Formats: sequence, C-alpha cells, structure tokens
Amino acid sequence: MRANTEEDNITTRSKAPARFSGASEKDGIMGGKLCLAARWAIPIVGEPIRDAVVVIDNGIIEGVYARPQFNTIYKNQQIERAEDYKEAVIMPGLINMHSHLDYSALRAFDTDLPFFDWIEGLVTRSRDWTSDKWFQSALYGARLAAFTGTSTIVDSSYSGQAAKAIAQVGLRGVVGLEIFGLCDADSDTGWTSWLSRFEALRDTDFPPLKEALEKQSITLTVSPHAPYTVCPSLWLKAATWAKKFSLPVLAHLAESEEECQWLAAGQERVQEFLAFSMRTDIDSEKLKPRWAGRGLTPVQHLKNYGLLNEWLVVAHAVHTDDADLTILSEHNVKVAHCPRSNARLKNGLAPYSKMLEHGITVGLGTDSLASNDDLNLLAEAQFALNAHRLKADDDGEEHLTTARQLIEAMTMEAAIALKMDHLVGSLQAGKRADIAVFALPPTPLSDGEKEALCPYNLVMSGGARLRDLLVDGQFVVSEGKLNRS
Ligand SMILES: [Zn+2]
Repeated sequence: MRANTEEDNITTRSKAPARFSGASEKDGIMGGKLCLAARWAIPIVGEPIRDAVVVIDNGIIEGVYARPQFNTIYKNQQIERAEDYKEAVIMPGLINMHSHLDYSALRAFDTDLPFFDWIEGLVTRSRDWTSDKWFQSALYGARLAAFTGTSTIVDSSYSGQAAKAIAQVGLRGVVGLEIFGLCDADSDTGWTSWLSRFEALRDTDFPPLKEALEKQSITLTVSPHAPYTVCPSLWLKAATWAKKFSLPVLAHLAESEEECQWLAAGQERVQEFLAFSMRTDIDSEKLKPRWAGRGLTPVQHLKNYGLLNEWLVVAHAVHTDDADLTILSEHNVKVAHCPRSNARLKNGLAPYSKMLEHGITVGLGTDSLASNDDLNLLAEAQFALNAHRLKADDDGEEHLTTARQLIEAMTMEAAIALKMDHLVGSLQAGKRADIAVFALPPTPLSDGEKEALCPYNLVMSGGARLRDLLVDGQFVVSEGKLNRS
C-alpha cells in the first residue's frame, strides 16, 4: 500500500508498474481505493469531464473528478491501485435491454427467411438441446457481451441457463424466464408449472448464480413471450406476480406486421406457427384465441386486458403509431429498441424519436445473435444513429438522433427503465462501480486539437475498443481478457 504524495497521484502511478500491491489482478479490488484516469470521463449525468479520474471504494463510485481537483482532495489518501488509460473514455458499463443469450450458438441463423419461418426454424433447431447445450450457448453470448463493454444484460431466457451464464462471466443481469400458453382454461396449470421452473432456477446450486442472487447482482423475473403466444389470463398472472415483488416484466410487442395483422384481423401464418409451436397435444379449437382478430393494435390489446403498467418492458414496438405511443407513455411502459434485429428480420424501424417525444423511456437491445451480427451495443447504437438519420419518421419530420441520446439510452435510460438508476447507469458518487473503459482510436491530431473533439462522438466513431470492464468494482475484463472463464 502506498501513501500519496503531493505529486500528481495518477501520473506517479502510471510510471510505476500498472498493478499495485494489495490488489489481485484476477479478483479486482477487495478493499481500499481504486483510481481510473483517462482523457475523458462521460458521467452521463452532467457534462463530460476532460482529463478525469474516477475513484472507486469497495465496489462503489466515490467520485468523478478533473485531475487537479482529484490531486487536491486525495493528496494524503491511500490508493490501492491506479490505472491511467490515457487516450480513453471512462463511462458507465452498457446495459443491453433485450437479448436471448440462449440462442447465441445460432449466430447468423437464416435471417433471409420470413419472420415466422425464422422463428419456427429457431424453435426446430433448439428444441432438443440439453441444459448443458443451452448453457454453453448462453455462456458464449455472455462472454461476447462482456468483451464489448456490456455490464448488465436484460435477457428473456427460454431455458433459464442465461442466468447461469451471466453469473459465470460476472455480469449484472435481469433474467426473465419465458412463459408461453395460449389457452385461458389452462392458465392456472401453466402458471403453476412456470412457478416451479422459476423456483428451481432461484434455488439453484450453481455457485456463481447462487452468489449473484444472494448479492442481488442478478434478478430473476418473468417474461411473457408475446401477445400471440401468451393468453391474457396467463399474462395477467405474470404481471400481477411481478408487480407484487416489484420486478420488471419482459415481453415482445409489435415486432412484426404479422403480429399486428393477427391481432387486428387474424393471420394464417401466425396460426400455423401456433399450431407448430404448441405441437399437436392441444385441441385445435383452442388455437383460435378469442383475443385475435378483434381490430386492435398490439398496444391496444394489452391495454384492453389491463396489462400495461410501469413494470412492463417491451422489446421492439416497431409497429406503433402516435395513438399507441400515447398509450405506452400514459402507462409508463418502457421500450427496448432493437434496430439491427428489426432490420435483419425485415420488421422495420421503430419510431425512436417519436417515442422520446412522447416521454417514453427507451433503452437499446441487441436481441439474440440469431438475428444480429454480434452483441456489441456500441455497434447497435452506431447502426441506430445512421438508420434514424437516414429515415425520417412517417410524418416526414426530421428528428435528429444524436450520439449522446443513444449513449444515454444504453446507460441511464436503461437503468431508469429497470428501476435500477439508484445503482447503475451513470458515474455518480454512491452508485455501483459498473464501468467500461474504451480506448480511443489513434489520431495524428495534436493534444490541443483532440481537446476539441466531442467525447460522445468519439465513443460512437467506430474505433473505440474495450480495454477494461468492471462490475461492482471487480474487473470482469482486463485488457481484453476475461477474468472468469
Ligand atoms: Zn427477442
């Protein structure tokens, strides 16, 4: 352990070996202060700080300072470990608002197919997977997410193995165990069966998940898949249960034209898919749900059954008009915007700017690797930035989407959506130290010229590369290497 001198603390340490005594490189900092310095810090709340130092104590952010201020405050304090990343940006770890790590092994699965052919193919390919296969698939995805700066994953998991994978890698997570069921008459048994699967997962003996659940870095909840696969009575049981325990409800909504057509007037391909996915052990009459073909939009449908509330987080919301957005806003429903998956599956582009104008809280999600190139949220945001600048909303109005908006969507907005903004989403004193450090691309610009660049644009420029990722002040990724395999 070293005592600080009056010299510049970080500069001094950057001349010394990068790692300091008292800190295990593998486990991160268990006690004492950790300081991270870089050309920029983007705290999200407040303006970017040039030549910044972030101080972490026992997994909690103690403060974010400009270097002179840091040197004054900490000149006589002991620092366990200091890292000077120099040409880098320190910012909150990214929050992926919608994924299915379960399907990571089906990377680049055939996305040329029509949407319901694609889903059917996905189900067929994975139907007979063992628990271990689901786990290995999810683990692959969790690692990819960590390598690109994601510290929190919000996942809808069919198998539940995503929770174990997120715990294994050391990330924060909100995992909704998926529930399906079309028959109102069967919703009691369907709910009981889901509860027993949930309890089995919650009572896991898998040590990393057990530990993560104890320290509440992973939250388990429910994920009613979509309006076309979950009957209103079953969805209501899920929503009521989640509200009772103050848990988010993770669902898909208004993703495809076919879903909208099915709810509005019935749709043959969706009916075929339901017959396929429910197999043949079901009365075919029950596959003609009473709530389909009633002239409603997906949003109106959920409203009709009292299923919209502040706990609901819906992925996609691509096919939503002003009236739908007004309803979502009035009920304080949150949206996970997944532009690359929507583009890949030819489902369209969600009206992101209009959502913001309606005051809706919107985060960004990658969806699964089966409908995306990677699980890199920065790449998702880069795509979103260009896509929204290219396409005016349906009213023809120009709504300028900015790098700052999208970085906020991946951090603070997502944290607000999950009611986790008291814990994560910004670099503020008292919050958990979930932090991503991105190295900036080399440039021939002088130091003075670099000062003029906007750090939000720099992070979104495509050249930013993850150096380190911390969750709860622990190094999950160090210099591109995972600390837990
Ligand atoms: Zn999805």
